[in-house]
Amino acid sequence: NGSNDILELAARAFLTAGCEAIYSQHAFAVYPLVTQATGATGVVVPAKNYGHDLPAMLAAITDKTRMIFVANPNNPTGTLLGKDELFEFLKQVPKHVLVVLDEAYDEYLSAANKSEAIGWLNEFDNLIISRTFSKAYGLAGLRVGFGLCHADIADLMNRVRQPFNVNSIAQAAAVASLADDDFVERSYALNQAGMVQLTQGFNKLRLEYIPSFANFVSFAVKSDTQNAAEVNQKLLQKGVIVRPIANYEMPDYLRVSIGLFSENARFLEVLEEIINK
Ligand SMILES: *Cc1c(COP(=O)(O)O)cnc(C)c1O
Repeated sequence: NGSNDILELAARAFLTAGCEAIYSQHAFAVYPLVTQATGATGVVVPAKNYGHDLPAMLAAITDKTRMIFVANPNNPTGTLLGKDELFEFLKQVPKHVLVVLDEAYDEYLSAANKSEAIGWLNEFDNLIISRTFSKAYGLAGLRVGFGLCHADIADLMNRVRQPFNVNSIAQAAAVASLADDDFVERSYALNQAGMVQLTQGFNKLRLEYIPSFANFVSFAVKSDTQNAAEVNQKLLQKGVIVRPIANYEMPDYLRVSIGLFSENARFLEVLEEIINK
């Protein structure tokens, strides 16, 4: 049921009251949710430039740590960790700590930035990689994701998995979509173009944004006359739906998904109207 299910299975299999899971400030909201549901303690490490601070996450490891969640790219900030720093980090994580590396947006990365973590599985028995068909493949409503990890880790996760968690229609669609490279390439190209369109628009409106490697951008609304929540309400009234991210400790930011050219244009037009009022 989506890569969300992988995150939850990992937490249910390996976390319990009295142990700790580490994740970054501003990281994907599901990490605290699945951690808290097991009774384990979540340890939030302050972000660095809105991204993961890996040395600080290493320093937060204790005898009680069982799991570290890393989103790369991260949602809702769109930040990306370099491959070298991630590899060095994995080398330093003690073997009794599992690293859940969430790569939900990998298909939106350029060839040079794409993850090589699958090749690292031989080296790290404590690595769980999660991927999804929900983003670049466009199958979010069908709920299919997958995890890659050592067979012994998969065995333990399977013991807490519902036997029929992924339905047969979703599986058929996922398998078919694996053969549709054209679609993923078009998603990638559309996203690249939309990213340029939106960031140029933000520059023109003099709005600060966090450079993003995913299919959305988070931008700041810090005017004296209206805050992000108010701008969000006005966008809604115009039929434009963005994501307020105050629950990610980012009350001054809104996250906008990259859409079709005309949708991006409409968003920028309405935003300009609201900002300049
Ligand atoms: C969307 C998302 C997921 C999970 O999506 P599924 O639809 O459950 O596969 C996981 N991690 C991040 C960072 C996401 O943004």
